[in-house]
Amino acid sequence: MAIAIRLTKAHIDQMVAHALEEAPIEACGLIAARNGTVTEIRRARNAEQSPYRFSIDPLETRRHEEAIDAAGAQLAGFYHSHTGSAPIPSPTDIRMMGPFFGPPYVHFVIGVADRAHPEVRAWYIENGQPIEQQYEIIPG
Ligand SMILES: [Zn+2]
Repeated sequence: MAIAIRLTKAHIDQMVAHALEEAPIEACGLIAARNGTVTEIRRARNAEQSPYRFSIDPLETRRHEEAIDAAGAQLAGFYHSHTGSAPIPSPTDIRMMGPFFGPPYVHFVIGVADRAHPEVRAWYIENGQPIEQQYEIIPG
């Protein structure tokens, strides 16, 4: 399995912290990268305010994309949390992610059903199916 994306432990910690703060509501956000290396984790608001699903307002997505562009990076993917189930994209996630199916978009799912043992997994969604990807933690 190839490495889909590289990021620091601090980036992982930011996504996990967001997931723990919002639980039991699902947390979500965008991931910016340059040349396959994450530059920034950007928190977004879960427009659904639901423990079972998430969506990001398209205007908010656009605002983040413009800021990412301005910083000379690219939108590389998304993250959201699962607060009561395994960190595997659900059929609802796959439907809601619409045009943002990967590759190239990496979907991190942060599992915090067991708050003491968060689980971070990365996925591409290809042909409507989640395909697990590897990520590399680099020094930061
Ligand atoms: Zn989900």
